[in-house]
Amino acid sequence: MDAKYARKLAARLNTDGWHYGGLPGLQWEAENARRGELQLMRRIVDELRSDVRFQEFYHACINCGNCTSMCPAFRFVDFEPRIVVQKVMHAKDEPELLYQMMDEYLWACYQCYSCWEVCPAHNNPGGLVALLKEAAVRNGLESAKRTLEPYSKTLFKVMATGTQITPDMHMLFAPFRDWGPHKAELVKNIRTERQGVPVESMWGVMDKGWRVPKRTMLELFIIERESGVLDSVRNSSKDVVDMVEEAGKELEESEKNG
Ligand code: SF4
Ligand code: SF4
Repeated sequence: MDAKYARKLAARLNTDGWHYGGLPGLQWEAENARRGELQLMRRIVDELRSDVRFQEFYHACINCGNCTSMCPAFRFVDFEPRIVVQKVMHAKDEPELLYQMMDEYLWACYQCYSCWEVCPAHNNPGGLVALLKEAAVRNGLESAKRTLEPYSKTLFKVMATGTQITPDMHMLFAPFRDWGPHKAELVKNIRTERQGVPVESMWGVMDKGWRVPKRTMLELFIIERESGVLDSVRNSSKDVVDMVEEAGKELEESEKNG
């Protein structure tokens, strides 16, 4: 982190050292929003409002701030669910308000849904964030590509096998850094240890979380293709979708050939 950026961040800390919300933090994204395509911004608003979940997640906001007071992300970064809902409320006339949040702001939400529990108007701010993240992925926004990139292995595993973290992802040469330095030690004997798992569906399986029949993976692929899941991710993670499609076609071939 360069010194200038560090000073900027430090200026936002309160006396407890928390990187507090409530500041006009969205302004750093406003410039990007102004450079955005109006047509794309309108499309995002239309997609949001036409989603069947929108009617359930958004009613009207009285700006009380209960959601923000419960939000764990608000305690640590410059993020407020209240602001998200307020922007959603005004986005029909000013679509850049939503787009402004999609560069960085939205990705601070953990999707814990504490905000939903406390809203007197029964809004679901976390749900609205989820819909906007989906729109960012579907429309191939840079923020979505940046966010998905470190999870591409996990995304592939989920889409191709229905299981997420698999033993063969624990590798010596590229362990996930956030799993800690002890991970490299653990993987040394992972094959042997996997052979010792006393669960039939997991015993010796390295490339999936557990044994998944080919027929199940084929069904998963068909559901993802026909329901539009593959298309919805293509703009943000083309390589992963290409690999899933390749694996799916092989499964179809093998099913045809018995
Ligand atoms: S779902 Fe997101 S916005 Fe809502 S409380 Fe959790 S982190 Fe905050
Ligand atoms: S708790 Fe509900 S009504 Fe209050 S600011 Fe948050 S979204 Fe708006």
